[in-house]
Amino acid sequence: MTHNAAKDFQGFETLALHAGTPPDPVTGSRSMPVHFTTAYVFRDAVHGADLFSLKEMGYSYSRLTNPTVNAMEERLAALEGGLGATATSSGHAAQVLIFAALMGAGDHIVASSRIYGGSTNQLRNVFPRCFGWQSTLVDPDAIDNFKRAITDKTKLIFLESMANPSGVVVDIEAVAKVAEAAGIPLIVDNTLATPALCKPLQYGASIVTHSTTKFLSGHGHALGGAVVDGGTFDWKKHAGKYPNFGAPNPSYNGIVFNDAFGKAALHVWLHAVGLRDLGMTQQPMNAFLTLQGMETLALRMPRHCANAQAVAEHLEKHPKVAWVNYPGLKSSKYYNLVQKYCSGMGGAVFTFGVKGGHAAGTKIVSSMKLFSHVANIGDTRSLITHPSSTTHSQLTDEQKVALGIGPETIRVSIGLEAIADIIADLDQALAQI
Ligand code: PLP
Repeated sequence: MTHNAAKDFQGFETLALHAGTPPDPVTGSRSMPVHFTTAYVFRDAVHGADLFSLKEMGYSYSRLTNPTVNAMEERLAALEGGLGATATSSGHAAQVLIFAALMGAGDHIVASSRIYGGSTNQLRNVFPRCFGWQSTLVDPDAIDNFKRAITDKTKLIFLESMANPSGVVVDIEAVAKVAEAAGIPLIVDNTLATPALCKPLQYGASIVTHSTTKFLSGHGHALGGAVVDGGTFDWKKHAGKYPNFGAPNPSYNGIVFNDAFGKAALHVWLHAVGLRDLGMTQQPMNAFLTLQGMETLALRMPRHCANAQAVAEHLEKHPKVAWVNYPGLKSSKYYNLVQKYCSGMGGAVFTFGVKGGHAAGTKIVSSMKLFSHVANIGDTRSLITHPSSTTHSQLTDEQKVALGIGPETIRVSIGLEAIADIIADLDQALAQI
């Protein structure tokens, strides 16, 4: 009754439905129960002590882990091909968590400059002031930029496989080689591509992060994030550089995570220390909702991408459209990278520029009937925003230009509605400028 199908069957669609959620061994429940509990009864005093000293792995308190959240983590790790995942309250929290694991005050990050504006805010403003983490942001089109920016304080490289919203696709394998030569991990935010299109761990990335808020959930009901550890980075070899795993931990009787957990040192640390002490835990209801979304990921992503491709091709020919940044277009300089890294699909989030600047841009977003004007992406419904006045409004003009955001820029996240309706809605809005 409790057979775990995900152990014997490994197809992507199968894992999306079964990984992490075998039938409940006690009740037979076929759906993953939502474990609304903060704590777990210890068998006896020794059991409690063993859990608290990491001699035994298990559930103690839901800030560290919870069975429903754990199911979502297992499913995501299976889809990305990683050793394990750690769920967080949001995508941004996942970034704080993994950076905290690897960085100390005065350390340095090399990041792609073509990433989500909120992540740029973290790197440029909050991290240096609050944590003493410095960053250099580089144009990811030239791989040498990453190499040149690395210093002896650099602890990681961070980039987005498919950048929000600029449609930039990065040559992951080439950057992974730079990271490997420098003895540091490459961390890839795979939010826009999802593992249905791209699996960064297969191309040499060591760690993947997600905002599960977007396509992984798909429905727009639940905020969440995750860190997936590939289990391939040799923390022991670089123990001096990463003391969280290489030095005795005073809060766990002086154990050295590298010695106690080997390849899983980072993965265990993220729960046992990271979530315990920083507290950006994902709630079980959100994990349950995310599990529901992930079941249909393999069906949704190709349809999202086919609709986005049709919209991009239509807009590229539209007389009121100045430019379209969709990497699935043959005219895009990222077209070949999409074929190599993203299964030939260009994703569903992209930007285009309308003729007429700021006034035309704001007119479009307020004229939509089917598209929702919201600061989100990756919903089953089509979404639209004017980044310059909303999601990216806190950036300087110079920073906006570096991210490919002008006053005329519109960002769309193409949903699963009938393609004729999506195009008709855009056409009626364009007709009004
Ligand atoms: N990464 C990317 C690519 C995003 O688009 C976002 C949010 O839009 C985030 C991370 C942050 O995720 P969250 O909103 O879940 O904190």
